[in-house]
Amino acid sequence: MSLEKTVYIGTFIHCQSLTELDIVDNGAVGVDEQGKIAFVHRDRHATSLEQGWKSAKIVDSLKHGFFFPGFIDTHIHASQYPNAGVFGKSTLLDWLNTYTFPLESSFNALDKAARIYNRVVARTLSHGTTTACYYATVHVPATILLADICHSKGQRAFVGRVCMDRLSPEWYRDESVEAAMDATKKCIEHIENIDPDFHLITPIITPRFAPSCTDECLIAQGRLVQETGLPCQTHISENKAECQLVQEMFPESKSYTEVYDSTGLLTNRTILAHAVHLTPEERALIKLRQAKISHCPASNTALTSGTAKVRTLLNEGLTVGLGTDISGGYTSSLLAEAREAIFVSRHNAMTEGDGAKLSVEEALYLATRGGAKVVGLEDRIGGFEVGKDWDAQMVMLNPVGKDEDLDQSVGLVDVFGGESWSEKVEKWVYTGDDRNTMAVWVKGRLVHDRERVRS
Ligand SMILES: [Zn+2]
Repeated sequence: MSLEKTVYIGTFIHCQSLTELDIVDNGAVGVDEQGKIAFVHRDRHATSLEQGWKSAKIVDSLKHGFFFPGFIDTHIHASQYPNAGVFGKSTLLDWLNTYTFPLESSFNALDKAARIYNRVVARTLSHGTTTACYYATVHVPATILLADICHSKGQRAFVGRVCMDRLSPEWYRDESVEAAMDATKKCIEHIENIDPDFHLITPIITPRFAPSCTDECLIAQGRLVQETGLPCQTHISENKAECQLVQEMFPESKSYTEVYDSTGLLTNRTILAHAVHLTPEERALIKLRQAKISHCPASNTALTSGTAKVRTLLNEGLTVGLGTDISGGYTSSLLAEAREAIFVSRHNAMTEGDGAKLSVEEALYLATRGGAKVVGLEDRIGGFEVGKDWDAQMVMLNPVGKDEDLDQSVGLVDVFGGESWSEKVEKWVYTGDDRNTMAVWVKGRLVHDRERVRS
């Protein structure tokens, strides 16, 4: 699909490193017909030197707005969206039986799947999530439908059919290893048909977690991972009772991580969600295999799974992004998840010292560049550089004062005129929500528009 050449002007903010933001307050970014960034100028007037851009469309962030890279949600169960906010006092293993399996099993009804998947993709886009790593359910038609919906709505997505042949009720699991592999391959083939080069949608091999799969099932999926080179996503070391269960179910394995490693599932394209209770040896093995970690603080708190030690993971050189983990997590907003990551780190700091604290800049890094590395797309998304895709959101703040030019409809981020840009970003992270996300683009295509984009 060819797009209109567009020059975005105004304030651009992205993460320069884990700890620093790069803020350009009068810049310009040119995005070509393929949705790629063709030029970046720190002074918007330099645009006049560019050949062939005179008639390009202009999109201005205006005085109180800024462009920020789209968020990357590295772990979300699309099928569990109706349960967001519903978890009672459960913990992981009883939560699965009480809330999750009954809901997921109902996705054999395609009309219900369509209603839920359309909404979760629209909702995450409205929160500025330009890339999502989705778990669907065991059902092939519904998983295919999720891939189609992401493709048509324009969200970059990794879509995985959940593979599991034990632990869940008999009426909601794969009947055999053969049936499981056949179903997963059908979903992969469908995505290869709709997006042969995986420009937008990528299949991802998705064993639910070790206890849900027999040894044979894990081995078969590991073989598929090794044969296809496709990415893989699963859960690891989320809750202590689960870790105990894994030890009992896999007595031959030295650790939870080794269950995945010994079955071929631990590669540099593997995304491990939670990673709360890993031992130093397991972290070393994950680093050796260059597997990635999705930190899901809202879920870890909601299900009282534990507080992941993100500072330790980062200090040891592991690659970390953020995941909402709907519906273990209650929020589909990665901005809210960034806030949760900051607060969980502060709880860690209360027992371990200030070094554990994550800053606003670090949380935003995990939500963008960190997530890009987790999904293996750090050359294409996560920041504003020439050659990257324009996956971005335009954030608007709410000025209060004499020259007020917006009303309260742009959310709770009231700014009074004296704030620096980094203070405005802090206010956005702590008090903002989707009302501040005015527009969202993926590969240059406008995929969410809260109000008409000013042009
Ligand atoms: Zn999960």
